[in-house]
This record gives sequence, C-alpha cells and structure tokens, in this order.
Amino acid sequence: MSSLSNSLQLKHGLALCCPHSSSLTRPHPSSSIGFRSFHRNFVVASSFSNDNREFVIVGGGNAAGYAARTFVENGMADGRLCIVSKEAYAPYERPALTKGYLFPLDKKPVRLPSFHTCVGSGGERQTPEWYKEKGIEMIYEDPVTSIDTEKQTLTTNSGKLLKYGSLIIATGCTASRFPEKIGGNIPGVHYIRDVADADSLISSLEKAKKVVIIGGGYIGMEVAAATVGWKLDTTVIFPENQLLRRLFTPSLAQRYEELYKENGVKFLKGVSIKNLEAGSDGRVAAVKLGDGSIVEADTTIIGIGAKPTASPFEVVGLNTTVGGIQVDGLFRTSIPGIFAVGDVAAFPLKMYDRVARVEHVDHARRSAQHCVKALLSAQTHMYDYLPYFYSRVFEYEGSPRKVWWQFYGDNVGETFEIGNFDPKIATFWIDSGKLKGVLLESGSAEEFELLPELARNQPSIDKTQLRKASSVEEALEIAKASLLNEQKA
Ligand SMILES: Cc1cc2nc3c(=O)[nH]c(=O)nc-3n(C[C@H](O)[C@H](O)[C@H](O)COP(=O)(O)OP(=O)(O)OC[C@H]3O[C@@H](n4cnc5c(N)ncnc54)[C@H](O)[C@@H]3O)c2cc1C
Repeated sequence: MSSLSNSLQLKHGLALCCPHSSSLTRPHPSSSIGFRSFHRNFVVASSFSNDNREFVIVGGGNAAGYAARTFVENGMADGRLCIVSKEAYAPYERPALTKGYLFPLDKKPVRLPSFHTCVGSGGERQTPEWYKEKGIEMIYEDPVTSIDTEKQTLTTNSGKLLKYGSLIIATGCTASRFPEKIGGNIPGVHYIRDVADADSLISSLEKAKKVVIIGGGYIGMEVAAATVGWKLDTTVIFPENQLLRRLFTPSLAQRYEELYKENGVKFLKGVSIKNLEAGSDGRVAAVKLGDGSIVEADTTIIGIGAKPTASPFEVVGLNTTVGGIQVDGLFRTSIPGIFAVGDVAAFPLKMYDRVARVEHVDHARRSAQHCVKALLSAQTHMYDYLPYFYSRVFEYEGSPRKVWWQFYGDNVGETFEIGNFDPKIATFWIDSGKLKGVLLESGSAEEFELLPELARNQPSIDKTQLRKASSVEEALEIAKASLLNEQKA
C-alpha cells in the first residue's frame, strides 16, 4: 500500500474541485485490491447547465443522505451534486420501516417527513426542500439501468443520459424473495425494504387476522413485535433452531423467544417451507411446510435476508466471497473516480483483517461520510470500522416492555451471559482472554457508551471474575476496570 501515502494521487475527484480546469488526465494509484493502472479523463463542470454532473450518487437511501450532508458540510454540493434515486422519497432512515412505521395506527406510527436522514444520528432532517435549498439535483423514481465507464455516463430507466465526474454507488440491498413458482408473488405476501413495501404491508395488516412471518432474523423479529401491537395472531417460521442465529447465542435467543411467546407469538423452528398457497380470492391463504402440514395465513411477511444491489455496476468489480462491490479503505472501486458505500460495498474490515459487507445503518452512515471526506479533501486514513448492530422493538405506546439492545465488536470465542433479562442482560464474547464483543439489553446511556470502548480496545478479562458477577452492572464494572488498567499501563 505504499502509494497510499500520496494524498494527491488518492483523490479521485480532487481535480473536480477546480472549476476552471476543463479536463484533467492523471494516473490512478495502485492499491491492495488490484486497481488497474491507466489514465482517465475527468470532465469538469461547475453547474448542471451543460448537463455534466461533477458528483453523482446512485441510490437515494441511508448512505446517500449522509453523503449529501458531507458534501454540504464541505461546501461542495451546490450545483455540483446530483442524486439519482429509484424511490419517490428523499433519503430516509430505513430502520424506521420495521419499527415506528409499523406501530398500530392508533399508537402514533411515524411517517415521512419525520424520519428523513439525518435524524437518526441527531442531525438535520433533510426534507426534499433541504435538497433544493442546498442546490442538490434530485432525480426520483428513475433508477440507473446502465453505465459506460469510458464515457463516464449513466443511463436511467426513463432514458436520461447523465455524465458524471465522480460517481458514488449507494444502491444498498434488495430483499431476497421466494420464487414465483412457490408463491413468492401472491397478493398478501410481503417483503419489506422501502416505504412502498411498508405501506403495502400496512394495508394488508388493516384487514389481517392471521399473520405468518417467515424468517427469524432482524426483519422477522421486528415485524413480529409490530403485529403483536396490532393484536394479530402471529406465527414465526424459520429453518434454524434459534432466533437471530448470526448474532445471538442460543441462550440469548431463547430469552427473546420466551418474551415473544409471552406476547402471544407462536414459533415453528427448524421448519422448511414447501410453498405458499392462494385462496379462492387469489390472496395468500396458507403456508405449506416441508412435512406437508399447513399453517393458515391471510398475510405473510418474508424476511429471509437481502442481496447487495450491484446491478448495473458489475463492471466496476465485484467481491465473489461476500458479494457486493469491492472497494478499498477509502471506498474506491477498481475504476478511478467510482466509489461504493453502504450495504453494497465489500470493504476491508481493518480491525479483524478481513473483507466484509455490513448491512447496518451505522456503517451506511459512516462509510458515506468517510468516502465523501476522502473524495473532497486530503483525508487519506483508511476506514476503520467497529461493527455495531442494534434493534429496538415493542416501543409503541402501552407496550408492556420495550426491547433495546446494542452489540459492538465480533461475536467470536467463549460467551458469558450475565443478568436475568428483567429487563437487563449482557453477553460478553471472549477470545484468547480478550473481550471481542459485547451485547447489552436495556442498558443506561452510560453503559451503552462503554460498549464501543470495550469492543474497540479489547481488554483482557478475568473470566473467573466475570463468571461470578452477580449483575450486569457488576460485569460491566469488571470489564471497565480491565480497560482502565490497561490504558494506565
Ligand atoms: C426494514 C429494515 C429495517 C432495518 N433495521 C435496521 C436496524 O434496526 N439497525 C440497523 O443497523 N440496520 C437496519 N437496517 C439496515 C439499514 O437500513 C441498511 O443497512 C441501510 O439502509 C443501508 O444504507 P444504503 O444507503 O447502503 O442502502 P439503502 O438505504 O437500502 O438505499 C439504497 C437505495 O438505492 C436505491 N437503488 C437501488 N438500485 C438503484 C438504481 N439502479 N438506481 C437508483 N437507485 C437505486 C434503492 O431503491 C434505495 O433507495 C434495516 C433495513 C431494513 C430494510
């Protein structure tokens, strides 16, 4: 990575900051992910009048909203930035769709414009008017369908030809679907990725009596908590033997499962689906399981994961292991001037020395900000992300118990569970004597603030002492003391 010390060489869009140059040819640095070494012409434009856009972001989601904010903060948005979006709305905080958006209609559900980015991180609410005021060109409901990397042009579904100087791909993920032949497209079968999906689900919930949720991950858990609020008969079906298997320990998963059961949710675990069946009205009527048994349903929500939306940008270089578009620690793809951020980016997870794709909002926000800063300034430090996942459910008015957990780090090694879930509980992951990951349910603000410190610094932990901790507070004190001792030493 020797070339990374030369900040001038690193800035794909740097020359674009000089409005008087008409074009610039310069070499692209080599990098650890094998950039091709060739020259590239940058077309410079200081306004949209000649239809050349200096900076184009494709995808108007979470990452796009935070990227736009960073362009504005750097004085580089006005007349220079264009966002091309498939959706009809300005960027919003997507996690809200399975949380406040699905609250029962009499329990003050949230609706746009209340959750436009960047409210999720305490920032300004960027409504469509905000983009106008900041001179950002927004193209709605017109997805990009092709790219010509030589001519530096994009074509949209409606046939618009957009020229770009620098391009940021922020196309996120697409919900995985059941194939049509097993009923994946029957009316009443829902997937949830955007506002239109959530609205369609709500219109089904208004008439629903029996809901079947397929999938025991984030989406399944969050939608089930919502349908409890709607007082609907809810069954969650999934092939694994526990909830949220990618993160939770079996014991933690069991605690959450019990909580859902106390709220009336039924679970069918370790079960495969044969197909979804339509009734005489053409709407979904039942879910047929692998063993031939039938679960009645008038509404089904499928939450079986998501796939990175790399199309039509495959040409910039994909990662074949984790999927998505391969980038380096400054979010540069293999083609000069083209970057990728958020869910779609396969990036070096420096802390754990591996390439990862992270489908979580914190990474979408941070990667977008890091990428734009690197693009516009001399910032050359590599992205150094600490994985952070969270969920919040049962938060509607009148709910007997709210659930809010946060996880930081890596879920590797031996696990230690402290607390009895009333409502607090913590799980510590310890590998080679060091704390690698920590999850906390219902912590205080100070306790939640401690988690990233612990996961980032990975203090050595006395496992015997931790095992003996009689409360979450005591366990966190033990971890904090180890951290402080190591910091003093
Ligand atoms: C229902 C739901 C709940 C979630 N809850 C949580 C949570 O609790 N905690 C958490 O950490 N994360 C959560 N996530 C994940 C989080 O929302 C994502 O990680 C985040 O939105 C990723 O941001 P992004 O900008 O990369 O992608 P997105 O926000 O998905 O935005 C991508 C945008 O690109 C658009 N697009 C795609 N292709 C094109 C194209 N060719 N042309 C133009 N536009 C295109 C899409 O329509 C979309 O608007 C949730 C996700 C969903 C769907």
